[in-house]
Amino acid sequence: MRSHSIVWFLLGTSWTAEAASPALHVMVIDQVGIEDTGIAIATDVAQRILNHAGVATSWVTCRSECPPDTGRVDVSVRIVARPTPDHKVSASANGMALGGTPGGFAQYAYVYYERVLSQGSWTRYRVLGHVLAHEIGHLLGREHSGQGIMRAAWTQKQAQDLATAYLLFTANEAKTMQQNVEARTRRAVPLPPR
Ligand SMILES: [Zn+2]
Repeated sequence: MRSHSIVWFLLGTSWTAEAASPALHVMVIDQVGIEDTGIAIATDVAQRILNHAGVATSWVTCRSECPPDTGRVDVSVRIVARPTPDHKVSASANGMALGGTPGGFAQYAYVYYERVLSQGSWTRYRVLGHVLAHEIGHLLGREHSGQGIMRAAWTQKQAQDLATAYLLFTANEAKTMQQNVEARTRRAVPLPPR
C-alpha cells in the first residue's frame, strides 16, 4: 500500500530481521472499527518489535469476529473500546492478558482502544502497535519490568520516543519469549503414529 510505505519512510527505521522461525500465529480481532491503514501500521509495528526480540509472527486480522476456519492461532488479541466490569485492571492499563490454564499456554488478551486514543492522536496506531506487542509479551510469559516495552506504564519520554522509534524487549525477555514460542511449537507437533 503506497501511503503505508510513505508513512514508514517518514517514521520508520531500517531494521534487520532477527527473528527465526518457528512463527507465532497471532489473531487480532478489531471490535472498534479501526481503519485498514491503522491496523496495517499497528500490526507492522508490533511485528517489528517482536521480530527484534527474535519472535517471528504471522498475523490474521478480523473485524468483529474471526471465522472458525481461521487456521492455526497461538494467541488472540481482542481490541475493545474499554474494559468490561469483569476486567480487573488499573485505571492506566492499556490492555490485559489472561493467564493460561494449568499446564497450558496463555492465549487471550484485550486492548482498550479508548485508552490508546487518549495517549496521542497522530501516534495512535504506533501506540496501538506497542500495546499489542506488550500484551503478547505477557502471553509469552513476561511480567512487567522496570524498563523497555514491558514497563507497567510507559514514561513520558518513552511515550514520545515511540512516535519515531520503538520500545523494545530486553535481551532476557526476548530469550524467554523465544523459549515460550518454541515450547508451543513442540506441543503443536502431532505425535508420530504408533
Ligand atoms: Zn502489562
